[in-house]
Amino acid sequence: MFGISQEAIDFGVKVETIHAITFVFFTALFLAFDKIPAMDKYRIRPKVKQDPKLTQLAIKNIVMSHVLAVPYLAGLVFPIFQWRGMTQNSMPSLMVAVSQIFFSMLVEDTLFYWIHRILHHPRLYKHLHKQHHLYINTVSYAAEFSHPIEQTVSNVFPSYAGPILCNMSIDVFCIWTFLRLWETFESHSGFVLPYSPWEFFLSVQGGAARHDFHHSHNKGSFGSLFKFWDWFMGTDADFKAFQKLQQQKKDHQAQHQEDSKSSLSQDVDDNAADNKNE
Ligand SMILES: [Zn+2]
Ligand SMILES: [Zn+2]
Repeated sequence: MFGISQEAIDFGVKVETIHAITFVFFTALFLAFDKIPAMDKYRIRPKVKQDPKLTQLAIKNIVMSHVLAVPYLAGLVFPIFQWRGMTQNSMPSLMVAVSQIFFSMLVEDTLFYWIHRILHHPRLYKHLHKQHHLYINTVSYAAEFSHPIEQTVSNVFPSYAGPILCNMSIDVFCIWTFLRLWETFESHSGFVLPYSPWEFFLSVQGGAARHDFHHSHNKGSFGSLFKFWDWFMGTDADFKAFQKLQQQKKDHQAQHQEDSKSSLSQDVDDNAADNKNE
């Protein structure tokens, strides 16, 4: 059909199916978390009501992206997969699969950092990247709310480059796609989940708080999966200063509570002593 092979169509449908299932699962999960009071302790910032007009716009954009962009782009990239001999549906050894995914994470993070940083150039920002930043307080599904050019250049290209370079099989590519989407939905969720694998290795990974800061303050923190480029280029200075201030506020509050408690118990002791003397 229109010069596109059946294999390319099947691949496009497969990628979109994984994409859609991951999107629906994490959107439902984080919307549920938003309604559960016990999850409030994991919120990065206080709960906010999203602008319904923005939600409507985002849903329209995301549906269009799922129906058109994701399967078509996958189908268009498929000939490169064929050229690289990646069309086999087979699982390599666990070691090979893990190293290919780790390699793809490094490639994705590097490309994403630089493309994202370029998109913040004033000449490009208002035309391409501003749409994604309309969400100052992000929600999980807003991860995919972006201009089609940004979606292609900043999201799809960095995610496909690593697998193409390391000849990843389609099965491993499906796992990689799921992991990449999971990370991005979580980093836009507004929650820091202590048992999430994306929060385990905080010395090398960014965690959800970093990308949340990027949306709320629009200052630095351009990386996706790792902290490296932001650290190396010094673009995490504002985030670090913000974290330090937040910690100082927390410590101050804790100290204040501690002081109030001890002065209250001192008053109780004094009253008890007064009563005894009377
Ligand atoms: Zn940005
Ligand atoms: Zn974002």
